[in-house]
Amino acid sequence: LVQLKDVNKHFGDLHVLRNINLEVRKGEVVVVIGPSGSGKSTLCRAINRLETIDDGEILIDGTRLPSEGKQLARLRADVGMVFQSFNLFAHKSILENVTLGPVKVKGTKPAAAKELAMSLLKRVGVDNQAGKLPAQLSGGQQQRVAIARALAMKPKVMLFDEPTSALDPEMINEVLDTMVGLAKEGMTMIVVTHEMGFARKAADRVIFMADGQIVEQATPEEFFTNPKSERARDFLGKIL
Ligand code: ATP
Ligand code: MG
Repeated sequence: LVQLKDVNKHFGDLHVLRNINLEVRKGEVVVVIGPSGSGKSTLCRAINRLETIDDGEILIDGTRLPSEGKQLARLRADVGMVFQSFNLFAHKSILENVTLGPVKVKGTKPAAAKELAMSLLKRVGVDNQAGKLPAQLSGGQQQRVAIARALAMKPKVMLFDEPTSALDPEMINEVLDTMVGLAKEGMTMIVVTHEMGFARKAADRVIFMADGQIVEQATPEEFFTNPKSERARDFLGKIL
């Protein structure tokens, strides 16, 4: 469903993505881990074309992402993204945050968008907050709204970039539980996270990145009990 072929990306002299080859199948949950600066966020942003790439190609469901224009907006809708900071529209209600994309980008009728939004807000457990502004919600609630907002575009794949790292500890699980639920329902997901409990529970595959390269990939079981590379062992020693 998601294919990256020989993808390279530089920021000036810094080679942030080095010959990335990655294929994510429909329904697969891939967890990406690795040290700070290894290129995890850049990888996510490149998949969504929030970042250009120097060479190689990225296909979503067999279609190459165009670099600009209306087509990009439509294809981007296939790729939902949830960031570390919730990035909700601060001056719009929770409900509007979730209806805006479908109405503006997909041309969904407002009534239908509202119905969809309410069902998604219910699914992530914040439907009782629909009329409030983002600032009136807890971090965990805001992040669940961000997930509902991404889902409202009916994406084929969801990208999560450290979705719980800005949250207070007691709110982490409510967001992870929502993500585990999505995984169980068969959503294709690429998740950058250091939450190893999530990786063990939901990941089909763990990818370890360092210095812009995919150094190692394995099932969570295999990776956590028997990491092959020195770098992965070293990294796991620091976070576990
Ligand atoms: P973290 O775990 O800290 O989030 P990461 O693995 O997500 O790290 P990236 O954010 O992808 O790492 O960054 C990879 C490298 O690219 C870092 O060295 C970073 O400083 C650099 N970088 C990221 N964005 C830019 C940018 N817009 N311009 C220049 N350098 C950048
Ligand atoms: Mg990052």
